[in-house]
Amino acid sequence: MKILVIGGGPAGLMAAKQAFLKGHDVCIVDSQEKLGKKLLMTGNTRCNITNNKELNEFMKQCSKSTRFLYSSLSEFGPKEIIEFFNEHNCPLVPEDYDRMFPQSQKATDILNVLLTESVKTELNTKVERLNIKDHTIESITTNKGELTADHYILATGGKSFPVSGSDGSGYKLLQSVGHTITDLVGIETGLHSINTRPLQGLSLKDVTIKVRVKNKVKTTEIGDVLFTHFGLSGPGILKISETVVEHLKHPVSITLSLQQVDLSTGSLTKKLKAIYPNRFVDELLKDYDEKPLEQTSNYDKEIIRTIYLNPTYKITGVQPIEKAFVTKGGVATKDIDPITMKSKLIHNLSICGEVLDCHGSVGGYNLTLALSSGYTAGRKI
Ligand SMILES: Cc1cc2nc3c(=O)[nH]c(=O)nc-3n(C[C@H](O)[C@H](O)[C@H](O)COP(=O)(O)OP(=O)(O)OC[C@H]3O[C@@H](n4cnc5c(N)ncnc54)[C@H](O)[C@@H]3O)c2cc1C
Repeated sequence: MKILVIGGGPAGLMAAKQAFLKGHDVCIVDSQEKLGKKLLMTGNTRCNITNNKELNEFMKQCSKSTRFLYSSLSEFGPKEIIEFFNEHNCPLVPEDYDRMFPQSQKATDILNVLLTESVKTELNTKVERLNIKDHTIESITTNKGELTADHYILATGGKSFPVSGSDGSGYKLLQSVGHTITDLVGIETGLHSINTRPLQGLSLKDVTIKVRVKNKVKTTEIGDVLFTHFGLSGPGILKISETVVEHLKHPVSITLSLQQVDLSTGSLTKKLKAIYPNRFVDELLKDYDEKPLEQTSNYDKEIIRTIYLNPTYKITGVQPIEKAFVTKGGVATKDIDPITMKSKLIHNLSICGEVLDCHGSVGGYNLTLALSSGYTAGRKI
């Protein structure tokens, strides 16, 4: 069969490889000048490709809608992905116990494994329309003309980082042929805050981050925090950003619980400066009337513990979806067969990758979902 794969990110590349291995004549159509542009940006160009958690633990870090991919992940999940890259001479190594990166620390090595020499490519070719007759794609219209195939696999990604090619056009293509698109929201994203401005440029390592909604703690994570021109970012913030996005209608704030220090004697400023950047401590203690801790009352020490060692920043919004790392929402899974990734509405169409309404947390989850659903789409045409 002749197969056209629309979108050459990790999902489309894996689908193309599997379809080719099944003996099909495969061509990838991509709007960009090269394949895998977003993949090359991942993990700060080191590519956190998967996570070596057991599948049930892995699923706990994914959205409820991602249960749709359980069958696909059971066949080609984190364990199989690790084996796949090992077999292709690109061994993966763990970091922080379970996040898996290529041993070479290069996203290019991951991309090279996913590329398949005998799969044809049509680059700089943007798909603008799916031409349908009797619930079947007859042809696709691109900026360069019409293309035809027996079967089509759509893997156009989400809506974030449009410079990588995933500009959300896939959602429109699918909506035009009857697929439902759930609300699209950017997650794994930076948070806007005004009272962080004096801290711009500073970063804190391994801080306990608490999301407070109407002053109640909703979630807690440990991770690095970066103070930026707009507010807060860094891996720890990206992790908790989904909870913030969900509750933005209410007053939301972020508390950074700092390390406990011995408050019996000495100078609080000196103790904190031994742990945190000077500028951070100066800003933190700007209203604190410093005196030796041995002369500080128990009442004041309680204030130090609850307020000064738990700075809280009011969140006023989040970065726009274009600047988020991942899109939450997408093609409603009710119209897709979970065993094959085939559309239930269009006979010769399969759908895979981030364009689906499935997502996971920071830590290699989203690339795993892309590779797994791509694997199924390519093998089960
Ligand atoms: C900066 C950054 C870092 C990230 N780091 C990680 C990480 O370390 N680990 C992790 O698990 N996840 C990470 N992610 C998320 C991960 O990159 C995505 O979830 C993943 O790339 C989705 O794969 P995909 O194949 O579905 O879509 P994409 O990788 O987005 O690929 C879609 C492809 O479709 C093409 N396309 C789109 N529309 C059309 C059209 N109309 N016509 C033709 N072609 C089209 C695009 O050009 C693109 O090549 C990161 C994301 C970003 C932005």
